Amino acid sequence: MAQIIDGKAVAQKVRDEVRTGVEAFRAAHGRAPGLHVVLVGDDQASAVYVRNKEKAAEEVGMAGKVYRLPASTTEPELLKLVHELNQDDAVDGILVQFPVPAQISQTRVIETISPAKDVDGLHPISAGSLWAGVDGLVSCTPSGCLRLLKEAGVQLAGANAVVVGRSNLVGKPVAALLLAENATVTIAHSKTRDLASVCRQADVLVAAVGREAIIKGDFVKPGAAVIDVGMNRNAQGKLCGDVDFEAAEKVAGFITKVPGGVGPMTIACLLENTLKAAKLRKLRA
Ligand code: NAP
Repeated sequence: MAQIIDGKAVAQKVRDEVRTGVEAFRAAHGRAPGLHVVLVGDDQASAVYVRNKEKAAEEVGMAGKVYRLPASTTEPELLKLVHELNQDDAVDGILVQFPVPAQISQTRVIETISPAKDVDGLHPISAGSLWAGVDGLVSCTPSGCLRLLKEAGVQLAGANAVVVGRSNLVGKPVAALLLAENATVTIAHSKTRDLASVCRQADVLVAAVGREAIIKGDFVKPGAAVIDVGMNRNAQGKLCGDVDFEAAEKVAGFITKVPGGVGPMTIACLLENTLKAAKLRKLRA
């Protein structure tokens, strides 16, 4: 049976590290790092995500604010706020919660956030820096995946890693991070031929698709480390991942659960990114 990688425990460890880092930053600079979150519209799920981020930031002693804008907000209005936050020296991290209403271009919002404050790591400069090996802000869920692998002591250098999914949010940055750790990386996607045999080559298998149980037990190489990023609802409305957990845990060496795996890491890594952004801005000032 696989060893379960406990995302809640690792996320708590990251939060504790951030709390210590926030105290040190405050002692050195006379203020706490500031995370500023913008929520546009009334989407219930987004409101819960934002509240959780706000609470988590408070718990580690960060400063910041949540801007709750009406669903009728125009793109120029939102971009004006982003520009103001870019200019404000007390703002270290800017996060616009997606999705935004249809009248606003998500791409334009991402491109307007200063890369120095891009704690979601989605700006093309952040993405390019990651592939170029330049220190910068990396999107939170991929960072969380790597931290889970490292905490479990999984050997990455020289490992065959397969990432299923190639989104800018998860798949591509996870692949870049694994490459930076000297894994041999394959990125699979919806046009990949014979996904099962591609996955069976993986010493490290990361599933970021968004389809319940697309990764079957016989896709998993014996002893592999399996990271399940998927967040899906099954027929009973229960949260589940992309991996057939019951079958895969019998084969894998390490595996994450959904919930309780990658999910808790995302907010913890957002806090870590905000602290990093604050420190980098001081260093580069
Ligand atoms: P996405 O943008 O929809 O990307 C999904 C990827 O899966 C695409 O690259 C797609 O390939 C690929 N794909 C679709 N069907 C496939 C198939 N049959 N075989 C192989 N690949 C296939 O999704 P995302 O934003 O990356 O998110 C992926 C999952 O992670 C979702 O369940 C999401 O909810 C979850 N997620 C979780 C967290 C967290 O905090 N735990 C954070 C972010 C996302 P093409 O490119 O060819 O279309």
